[in-house]
Amino acid sequence: RRQGRASAATDGASAIIEHPDVQRMLLTMKALTAASRGICYLTAEAIDRAHRAPDEAARKAAQARASLLTPVAKAFSTDIGIEVASLGIQVHGGMGFVEETGAAQHLRDARIAAIYEGTNGIQAIDLVTRKLPLDAGAVVRGQIGAMRLVAERVLKEGGPAFGHTAPRLRETIEALDRATSSLLKALGSNRPDEALAGATPYLRLFGLAQGGTCLAQAALAANAAAKAGDTDPAHPARIALARFFAENLATAARGLEETVTGGGGFLQDGVLALAG
Ligand SMILES: Cc1cc2nc3c(=O)[nH]c(=O)nc-3n(C[C@H](O)[C@H](O)[C@H](O)COP(=O)(O)OP(=O)(O)OC[C@H]3O[C@@H](n4cnc5c(N)ncnc54)[C@H](O)[C@@H]3O)c2cc1C
Repeated sequence: RRQGRASAATDGASAIIEHPDVQRMLLTMKALTAASRGICYLTAEAIDRAHRAPDEAARKAAQARASLLTPVAKAFSTDIGIEVASLGIQVHGGMGFVEETGAAQHLRDARIAAIYEGTNGIQAIDLVTRKLPLDAGAVVRGQIGAMRLVAERVLKEGGPAFGHTAPRLRETIEALDRATSSLLKALGSNRPDEALAGATPYLRLFGLAQGGTCLAQAALAANAAAKAGDTDPAHPARIALARFFAENLATAARGLEETVTGGGGFLQDGVLALAG
């Protein structure tokens, strides 16, 4: 599709992929999809280890990790499915909205996944009220600790192609850590409604931190392979995708943290506002 003229073009209409905003949409689709896959693979790995790890302690730890990650895998990924399918329509413009491209059908099909097998609201409540308190918070702290190790590796090993991946990822993980403390405190202080009010934004924040970590891990592996002389173009692509996610999508983390820790005010006047 050719439409408009990109700033670098000299004459004629440009292919829409040359427009920065279209590149942003396509990269958002690719990065969110890859992040969701990473979380699902991580969850599947934990489930496998819960069954097959050689010793009992490792199986128990893997089971706890699988329990923590399962609502994130389900709800984050299915929310992303809807967003990506919606962006798929937007990329195609008016042709996306009409039936010929098939893009609208993807959105209709994706919409159900956030509802059945437990709505995503219920998944978020499961994450906050049942999974965060596992082992007095030690399971979620362990997972956050593992994310931090990846961010530290990016800081040490990542070259210029990683841009601001390390600091943005670290900020996202620290926002998750603070939001986790706030929710555990609300649950421990008999303020369950506050925790329930923040559950959905918290799950999104968790997904951004975990998804960004998965992409960063893939980028580190790609970086090592490229350094060893492998010229596969998939390697720089993985680094660029992790960077895009950290610099453009994970940046929502601070806002989500504020919503989790300070957004519960609607519990006092939310119903009043709905009635007006
Ligand atoms: C196409 C389709 C196929 C399906 N297939 C199957 C199937 O094969 N097997 C099967 O068993 N079921 C199936 N279902 C049912 C599906 O699992 C339910 O629709 C789903 O669990 C949501 O329940 P509900 O529709 O009763 O929504 P409700 O429970 O009425 O939810 C309405 C809203 O309220 C929220 N909500 C509800 N309770 C709470 C709460 N305690 N706290 C906070 N928020 C809450 C929900 O998150 C949601 O936003 C299917 C549904 C559809 C539409």
